[in-house]
Amino acid sequence: MDCIFCKIVNREIDSQVIYENEQVLAFEDVNPQAPTHILVIPKKHIENIHEMTADEQQELLPEIFQTIQQIAEEKDLGKGYRVVNNCKENGGQTVNHLHFHLLGGRFMQWPPG
Ligand code: IMP
Repeated sequence: MDCIFCKIVNREIDSQVIYENEQVLAFEDVNPQAPTHILVIPKKHIENIHEMTADEQQELLPEIFQTIQQIAEEKDLGKGYRVVNNCKENGGQTVNHLHFHLLGGRFMQWPPG
């Protein structure tokens, strides 16, 4: 499968890994949109949030959100941060491997474009 994030998981492509456990990987976004911009992904290839099965949701979402909280603590984002999931084409998804953006370190505007 030609998935760039699977290649990052398998260390076929370099990335700046922030955190890793059996199920989850967090790494720096290559094109940061804020002082902190980290992607948190399941290691398992799941296309997007809409394709997650109920079992995958139960197994992976707690891991993903605990990872986000932990990184936010480590990065000193006590003033707040934004978590973004883009789902499919109209949601702005460009990499078809489920990922959550953790953005912080500046004030976030609303609404998004
Ligand atoms: P999406 O638009 O929500 O799918 O976000 C994909 C994100 O992946 C973008 O913010 C890209 O900058 C990021 N990205 C793409 N390729 C790489 C890479 O090789 N390493 C780290 N981040 C990447």
